[in-house]
Amino acid sequence: MRFVIGVDVGGTTTAAGVVSEGGEVLLEEQSPTHGDGPDTSGATIARLATAMSRRAAEERLPVAAVGIGVPAIVDAAGRIGEAHHVADLTGQTLGPALGARLGLPVFVDNDVNALALGEWTFGAGKGARSLVVLAAGTGFGAGIVLDGRVVRGAAGFGGELGHVPVKFDGRACWCGGRGCLAVYASGRGIGEAGRAAAAATAGAGLRAAAGGDPARVTAATVFAVAAAGDAVAGAIVDEAVRALGALLATVVNGLNPEVIVLTGGVAAALAPLEPRLLAVAASHAFRQALASTRISIVPSDKRLTVRGAAALALQELRSAPANRRGHP
Ligand SMILES: [Zn+2]
Repeated sequence: MRFVIGVDVGGTTTAAGVVSEGGEVLLEEQSPTHGDGPDTSGATIARLATAMSRRAAEERLPVAAVGIGVPAIVDAAGRIGEAHHVADLTGQTLGPALGARLGLPVFVDNDVNALALGEWTFGAGKGARSLVVLAAGTGFGAGIVLDGRVVRGAAGFGGELGHVPVKFDGRACWCGGRGCLAVYASGRGIGEAGRAAAAATAGAGLRAAAGGDPARVTAATVFAVAAAGDAVAGAIVDEAVRALGALLATVVNGLNPEVIVLTGGVAAALAPLEPRLLAVAASHAFRQALASTRISIVPSDKRLTVRGAAALALQELRSAPANRRGHP
């Protein structure tokens, strides 16, 4: 039996664990990503990975590799592209230095690609030939696994479905585009729409729920106020459902995967809206294609993402020995 270390790097919290080949998270530890001060995520990753390596040795668990999921595009050489929430990692290649320090191969990939591998290896997509994970969190990530391989694309952008346009003349997106799905269906986008609505006369319900301060409205406020029957918040949620339903149809018509997993921090709020989501998807998708795709809403959990990073390490260990992403 061998084990791997999985590290999931989030904008706020970084979690690490020692994971078995069967996907069981045996030891785990979390830390604020920037706990040592601004732009200290690199130090946090190194500290957690080292701690996990030491604890695994104490427990006599032989560790074969480290997998790291980061919230950014990662190219084929393991170099991290523009990382908004972990800016100190932009342009970095974590593998070589950390690998030398730990004496283990280190593999780095986009966090949702890792999560998709985790769901394909251990979770809702186990046994499926094709799987798409849609992660509606602060931003909106996605990962595509076809025939057991992550679709990374020519430059690492494969699966960036959060920035497909769902509204041609829609609101500007932080990516520089317009009308992106993420503007309507991510925590950040829903929160921004909620704050804008709360600042207007009609947004009294949202304003009141945030103690009178429109700046304090979050995506959670919007979902709660909408569930209580407020029309303005309800319209924002309705837009999120329509955008996500359209994306589900895009994925179903474009890839017809066996499984779609919808997860991330916003997923729990979306679970009660599943019938509406599926109705929107059905209005856009080919009926037989939709019928052959299993759609699961899985609430997000740090254990899931740590397991994803571990699945990445296991997958890379199994692939060619002269792997382009690993070290040493
Ligand atoms: Zn965008």
